[in-house]
Amino acid sequence: MDKRNILDCDLESLIEVVCSYGEKKFRAGQIFGWLARGTESFDKMGNVPKALREKLEENWYIGLPEVVVAQKSAEDGTQKVLFQFRDGARVESVFMKYHYGNSICISSQVGCRMGCAFCASTKKGLDRSLTGGEMLSQVLAMEKFTGEKIGHVVVMGIGEPFDNYENLSAFIRLINNPKGFGLGMRNITVSTCGLVPYITRFGKDFSQVNLAVSLHAPNGEIRQRTMPVARRYGYEELMDACRRYTEDTGRRITFEYAMIRGVNDRMENGLELAGHLEGWLTHVNLIPLNPVEGTGMNASYRDSILRFKEILEKKGVTVTIRRTLGSDIDGACGQLRLR
Ligand code: SAH
Repeated sequence: MDKRNILDCDLESLIEVVCSYGEKKFRAGQIFGWLARGTESFDKMGNVPKALREKLEENWYIGLPEVVVAQKSAEDGTQKVLFQFRDGARVESVFMKYHYGNSICISSQVGCRMGCAFCASTKKGLDRSLTGGEMLSQVLAMEKFTGEKIGHVVVMGIGEPFDNYENLSAFIRLINNPKGFGLGMRNITVSTCGLVPYITRFGKDFSQVNLAVSLHAPNGEIRQRTMPVARRYGYEELMDACRRYTEDTGRRITFEYAMIRGVNDRMENGLELAGHLEGWLTHVNLIPLNPVEGTGMNASYRDSILRFKEILEKKGVTVTIRRTLGSDIDGACGQLRLR
């Protein structure tokens, strides 16, 4: 039988595994702890009996991805790493330093089938989804590679996390487990292009995890021009789901809005957006579009972005303009791709 990735095991399944090998339950906790610290081989699990280590070795592998290429931004210290999994699948992850600590942007799928016109990650479609363990392993491998501790995870790399909901859920539970990596729910952010049914479900399952929604338009007509998903779920339907989410969870939603010159950056677009958002718990993150070859789309001029921000702020909407980290290494939003 083929070996399986032990990083996909939560503590309960590890307990079953060690018990099936005739070992005591508490061994599972020891192994779980070693794995969360990025241990790359069973031999290194010093307090685990040799016979158990050998049993594990026979049946399991520790699926830490290999570093294929790494690039470091000369501008801001952002590091982009191309990881490769055991089956050859490759994804990119990005390590960023913020004033509040170190953060990683991980991928949730190998490719993406959402087809957003401005995004590099979707150009070749979807190859496969990542498992929860593979998402976790990007964090562990990145800590190893950079030698730095990571305190925040954003699921905003390649892929649509809500198109891989079960594995995403497994990942969140795995990384949150205090016996393992122990990352707080509030230190995790998931970004979706707006798969409506999952927004509601996510609010119920993970009310403490931060949610970001890629909106990128003030109405359905403009949204449909760049985001095929907007044909599946109408603008009103999306806004309703978001409003219900904030009511049910008491948490605000972050709306990401990539500023695309001549597409969604006019004054009237700002006013229309402000009209939707006025009076509820949201935050708008304006992202100057990062250039992606072959899309024919450009970032808005700085002036339009500042004006857009002012319009929203006048209506009491909280707005930030995202610093684009790592754009010199194509590590910024929408620039991650398969190679
Ligand atoms: N699929 C998820 C997460 C991955 S994309 C989502 O759609 O939210 C992370 C963010 O980068 C999204 O807001 C996405 O719309 C945005 N993005 C994609 N291409 C971009 C580009 N060229 N410039 C700026 N932001 C981009």
